[in-house]
Amino acid sequence: MTNSTPKTMGQQFGRRSWAEPWKIKMVEPLNMSTPEQREKAMVEAGFNTFLLRSDDVYIDLLTDSGTGAMSDRQWAGMMMGDEAYAGSRNFYNLENALQTYYGYKHILPTHQGRGAEHLISQAVIKKGQYVPGNMYFTTTRLHQELAGGIFVDVIIDEAHDPVDLHPFKGNIDLVKLENLIQSKGAENIAYVSLAGTVNMAGGQPVSMENLKALRAMTDKYGIKLFLDATRMVENSLFIQEREQGYADKSIAEILKEFCGYTDGAWMSAKKDNLVNIGGWLAVNDWALFEELRNLVVVYEGLHTYGGLAGRDMEAMAIGIAESVKDEHVRSRVGQVRYLGELLTDWGIPIVQPVGGHAIFLNARAFYPHLKQIEFPAQTLAAELYLDSGIRSMERGIASAGRDAKTGDHYYPKLELTRLTIPRRVYTQAHMDVVAESVKAVYDARESTSGLKMVYEPKYLRFFQARFERL
Ligand SMILES: *Cc1c(COP(=O)(O)O)cnc(C)c1O
Repeated sequence: MTNSTPKTMGQQFGRRSWAEPWKIKMVEPLNMSTPEQREKAMVEAGFNTFLLRSDDVYIDLLTDSGTGAMSDRQWAGMMMGDEAYAGSRNFYNLENALQTYYGYKHILPTHQGRGAEHLISQAVIKKGQYVPGNMYFTTTRLHQELAGGIFVDVIIDEAHDPVDLHPFKGNIDLVKLENLIQSKGAENIAYVSLAGTVNMAGGQPVSMENLKALRAMTDKYGIKLFLDATRMVENSLFIQEREQGYADKSIAEILKEFCGYTDGAWMSAKKDNLVNIGGWLAVNDWALFEELRNLVVVYEGLHTYGGLAGRDMEAMAIGIAESVKDEHVRSRVGQVRYLGELLTDWGIPIVQPVGGHAIFLNARAFYPHLKQIEFPAQTLAAELYLDSGIRSMERGIASAGRDAKTGDHYYPKLELTRLTIPRRVYTQAHMDVVAESVKAVYDARESTSGLKMVYEPKYLRFFQARFERL
């Protein structure tokens, strides 16, 4: 094992170590717990890490959504909130930041990403239309389905294989897409739903080359192309590192070029944009924007605040400018990689290559003796919490839900437990503690039994489902 060697990660991998481009000014003390306390908390939470109280958690890797640390500049910006009902100056700052860094013409703030997904799904999808995309995302697909759409996964096959080292596992399979268009007819495709660094595939990026070919195909058939820009900044780093011709371009330049091939985007600003709450929707087409502006006042708020306080929009505007800086993205993804390299060194099965925002433990490979309906990934998340108070989340059969028509469970190929790293929050020492806990749970894998679901909510069941030990 390499964990006992005194070498730094940099020396070990033949490169210089990186460090964060910030220092700590304020700390938030954490609660430590005993194994008995954790057992009690886990049973009370129905073996669902979403139902734990955060006070009972030591290192919280549930999600990178809204859990990042804001900068002193962003906090200062909060004090500059203009809480006017209409035309807040902070809206114009946000609009300006989005036009500058993402390049879209027309902007609507929303309370968070799913608010934007709701609006665009309702505005663009006609009942019975198909929505092809590079793997589903929970809230995205649900809003598409609630609007009457039928989601079709057209991601490349490599994305479903946790050990395939394809550098752009988020790419769309253009043959699958063209077959769908030709069999259903272009008029029956609502739009192509493209996501940067595909979350459910392990945070895997889309290449610029794939996007350009996709744009050419959608143009050929007159189909719109919308982007889930939630982690597009992180996707841009992978393009810089892995794609020919981009090594000398900045993250900001790559981001803007990428968005330039799309007709619009929705965003969970709680991820890349470094705020605790917020989202936005952006399109280039004026007629569509008018329709979305009609909808935003019904569901979110006036088009210059969309469910957000002025101060939240200001923090977002500042966060956007910080989020596209090369040194920020490198250190953010670098920390994820640090954890990934430790686990890989120790032979622990994780999705490869390591993605941008999280480590995905391959729960099938942890627990080959468990059937998928015994919730291996949910089990692994529970075991990690019991071992050390680390909170992770399931991305497998519980998250996948049921087929709306047949009522059967979806059985996704990937059965993963996600360790999601919040932005600018934890240190390298926290990552060491996490790696050691994963190792301890891995070593105890053969004596671990699975779970059964005893309560199942109707929508997005993974959030509130309850389980018991088998
Ligand atoms: C989080 C997320 C969303 C939904 O955004 P919320 O802000 O949680 O409503 C949509 N797409 C992706 C890829 C996400 O990660």
